Amino acid sequence: MSEQKRDEDRAAGRRVVVAGAGMAGVQTAVALRERGFDGTVTLIGAEPHQPYDRPPLSKAVLLGKAEGSAFDVDFEGLGIELVLGREVVGLRPADHELDTESGPVPYDVLVVATGAEPIRLPGAEGVPGVHLLRTLDDAERLRPVLARQHDVVVVGAGWIGAEFATAAREAGCAVTVVEAADRPLAGALPAEVAAPMTAWYADSGAVLRTHARVARVEPGSVVLDDGSRLPAGAVVVGIGARPATGWLAGSGVELGAHGEVVADASLRTSVPDVYAVGDCASFPSGRYGERLLVHHWDNALQGPRTVAANILGATTGTPPAVYDPVPYFWSEQFGRFVQYAGHHAAADTVLWRGDPAGPAWTVCWLRGDRLVALLAVGRPRDLAQGRRLIESATRMDPRLLTDPARPLKAATV
Ligand SMILES: Cc1cc2nc3c(=O)[nH]c(=O)nc-3n(C[C@H](O)[C@H](O)[C@H](O)COP(=O)(O)OP(=O)(O)OC[C@H]3O[C@@H](n4cnc5c(N)ncnc54)[C@H](O)[C@@H]3O)c2cc1C
Repeated sequence: MSEQKRDEDRAAGRRVVVAGAGMAGVQTAVALRERGFDGTVTLIGAEPHQPYDRPPLSKAVLLGKAEGSAFDVDFEGLGIELVLGREVVGLRPADHELDTESGPVPYDVLVVATGAEPIRLPGAEGVPGVHLLRTLDDAERLRPVLARQHDVVVVGAGWIGAEFATAAREAGCAVTVVEAADRPLAGALPAEVAAPMTAWYADSGAVLRTHARVARVEPGSVVLDDGSRLPAGAVVVGIGARPATGWLAGSGVELGAHGEVVADASLRTSVPDVYAVGDCASFPSGRYGERLLVHHWDNALQGPRTVAANILGATTGTPPAVYDPVPYFWSEQFGRFVQYAGHHAAADTVLWRGDPAGPAWTVCWLRGDRLVALLAVGRPRDLAQGRRLIESATRMDPRLLTDPARPLKAATV
């Protein structure tokens, strides 16, 4: 980009800086260009790698079936200035400047897209053989661990824990998953829905130990609070992630109880000219009547479209677009394709389609006669149709809905 163009953009107030070069940051930059934004777009990421997609890290990349998962985006061709290996360390809204490790960066509009970072297991930091799984570097460190077919202990039976356990079993490791709650996915799904998933661990040959807390991690073993000692050539900690927003401390950007940026319905933050999107930000869901903090890929795809529309709209006086998605995610675990759409907290009824002991079934959550959420195991058609039915708030017939042979879209009133 020429100096002259930079100067013109600065004069016209058209410099967008995106902090964080993950899915949400990349999609924001791309969406701006797709919508015809012709000012300066600068994407700053802390990691040294070409921006990449995270879901394959716990699947194909981990197993060595894919070398990497770099986004297929022609940054240069799109005129997106990519600044990699540079951490953003602060924000000074009064000066319209970001601080980075190597000096300040001015912006006219800032998009915060710094995602989330994994929660560490207290006391396990620095112990040899303890791993997290969030970055490409993490996945690359774990690949040889799987190849050595060690005893592996996974701490946490959430989405990442289940996917890692799946890959480790596939690689021939002996796997024990330690979970403090009474079931897998305790933070995400109600007990009756998660119950059938317990058997998936045993079917795959992994040992799932629930009600089990880690007392300490030593080189080569994990000691539980009941005194039992598990051999561990490697330990993988998957106990959740929290928004990576420490750098916003003192900036005036409002943060919520989980450290997330509190965005409004148009994904604007409490500070003018600063937006936030992806894993780092919560937003008020008009659809579900509560604030949502979503740590899934589809949110990092859809949210940026709203942000880009609003950045452009602000220059033309267009009323801001509202972000009110039906959240969606998928997981691949123990040979099953698990998909979820919606938000079940508001539901008053749970109905099943199919036998939860079998390979394919769906759970439907309703509020009154409207579908508000759905979990589909091996039934992608249910998911696709259900997602549309949730979006359109179509009235459902509960009797028809429980017949797994009938398409969901034919179970309406
Ligand atoms: C192993 C794994 C598997 C997953 N699998 C699935 C799946 O199957 N399905 C699904 O729906 N979701 C999945 N997810 C979740 C999904 O990948 C995330 O929701 C998505 O990556 C969020 O994108 P993001 O851009 O908001 O955040 P991130 O992907 O976290 O990207 C944020 C980027 O900002 C950078 N950054 C952070 N702080 C700074 C700073 N101060 N300065 C500069 N840069 C900074 C980070 O280095 C990072 O590259 C998975 C996540 C992981 C980790």
